[in-house]
Amino acid sequence: MLLIEPERKIQTINKLIRKDSKIIKLLKEYVGYKCQFPDCNSLIPDKKRGVNYVEVAHIQPVHKAGQSIIGNLIVLCPNHHKEFDLGEPDIFIQNKHIISGILNERNFEINLFNSYSYEIK
Ligand SMILES: [Zn+2]
Repeated sequence: MLLIEPERKIQTINKLIRKDSKIIKLLKEYVGYKCQFPDCNSLIPDKKRGVNYVEVAHIQPVHKAGQSIIGNLIVLCPNHHKEFDLGEPDIFIQNKHIISGILNERNFEINLFNSYSYEIK
């Protein structure tokens, strides 16, 4: 029998270590693990965790100095997250209470004040 060793490569990984996991977890909990995009009913059960799978998007991207703060974060399903990343949304209003704009020729308005009924410290 011929023994063939697998080829091995050494790679350097450049990974940004983020410290926003606490606020991301809290936001997901506060919105009940639901996409905040208007009229989205996406449900992707995460059976290991017993919740609906959602992601948290930065309106102003991290690579453009966007911060992980209320007013710059929204909880989205993976489809809406990718749509935000690729769709180059036009944001009209962005503050702690509301995010509104146009995404792929659709107006949207997300009322954060109602979604985040808790004080996040
Ligand atoms: Zn969605």
